[in-house]
Amino acid sequence: MSTDSSKKNNQITAANEGVIAFRKELHQHPELSGQEKSTSKRILGFVKKSQPDATVKNIGGHGLAFVFDSGKPGPCVLFRTDADALPIQEVNTFDHKSEKEGVSHKCGHDGHMAIMSLLSRKIAGQRPQKGKAVLLFQPAEETGEGAEKVILDEKFKQIKPDMAFALHNLPGYDHHTIVMRKGAFASASKGMIVKLKGVTSHAGEPENGKNPARAMAEIVQKFLDLPQDSSFKDFTLVTLIHTRLGERAFGTSAGYAEVMATLRSYRNDDMEILTRKAEEIASKAAAKDEIETEISYTEEFPATVNNEECNGLVAGAAKNLDLKLVEKEQPFRWSEDFGQFTNRFKGALFGLGSGKNQPQLHNPDYDFPDEIIDTGANMFFDIYTRLLTDDQES
Ligand SMILES: [Zn+2]
Ligand SMILES: [Zn+2]
Repeated sequence: MSTDSSKKNNQITAANEGVIAFRKELHQHPELSGQEKSTSKRILGFVKKSQPDATVKNIGGHGLAFVFDSGKPGPCVLFRTDADALPIQEVNTFDHKSEKEGVSHKCGHDGHMAIMSLLSRKIAGQRPQKGKAVLLFQPAEETGEGAEKVILDEKFKQIKPDMAFALHNLPGYDHHTIVMRKGAFASASKGMIVKLKGVTSHAGEPENGKNPARAMAEIVQKFLDLPQDSSFKDFTLVTLIHTRLGERAFGTSAGYAEVMATLRSYRNDDMEILTRKAEEIASKAAAKDEIETEISYTEEFPATVNNEECNGLVAGAAKNLDLKLVEKEQPFRWSEDFGQFTNRFKGALFGLGSGKNQPQLHNPDYDFPDEIIDTGANMFFDIYTRLLTDDQES
């Protein structure tokens, strides 16, 4: 980076640009997945001062995309933040505590948005010289719906990226640590709901009905053993979430049951096998007692698989910024709907340490640490500079 622009850029900090106050404002006004209307309005107000060349509104719901376009040929590079909060009651009592009963930013998406907002200021100070940068504020990450909705939106065609980058803050790692992994970074997961439909009868004559108890018990047992199946190439997991059988009536033999389980895997192809095998278990167990099955899925996340070239850019940025870099041995067991992007485009998701003693994500006392906003924005900006400006030597 040339001395002039880097000097100028060093002055564009979260503190100087009012981004810390803005982060707290976002924290005070959280919105659940799919309802990010006022968040979107606040973001629009803040980022428009960075004078993007185009703004795409209401993409995939309340999503927003800001385009900084050089007007010249070159790659389209997308930087993505999530924007939604969680149905968790905040227990913190600081001034910027959530004003909404039962809803709060407990995953740090307020901080991710702050990082992206600061990035817009940095890009405004050094506009792209080739290709274009897209800053995407994506709705509904927590439910696994937002990313796909954005990608399938007709308006996405104009911002279809050649490369996509995202980060997530990670409690348990020192502030500013960059956590990355070659290949799979976060797991694939999906919620499976098995409904078993039998027929009730008098409890004294269960043979006159179709009680799904045996089928339910077999499904539970076999689901738990399923990850030991030899057909998987890597780690898989089936977690039992909820079961239900019949009604609380001693005179009636149960006629209905439900099993809910979360399926998880490091690899997308293993998820296909896991799903097929789980379905087979359910239908075979049900068939023995002539029970009808109905199977559905919810909160589906593909695995986030990092592209080598993009990973290299993340590692290069961490090196340039002199940040501690941790290569994870195994993928994270949680899921991120950024996997919808890495499934279709070259991309990388990396972790940004948010403090060793930081409360864990989704804990009621969590709050995003403002000191890592600059680090996150600098990481993205380093990648941006390399790909979209001529000022690429460090
Ligand atoms: Zn979360
Ligand atoms: Zn999150």
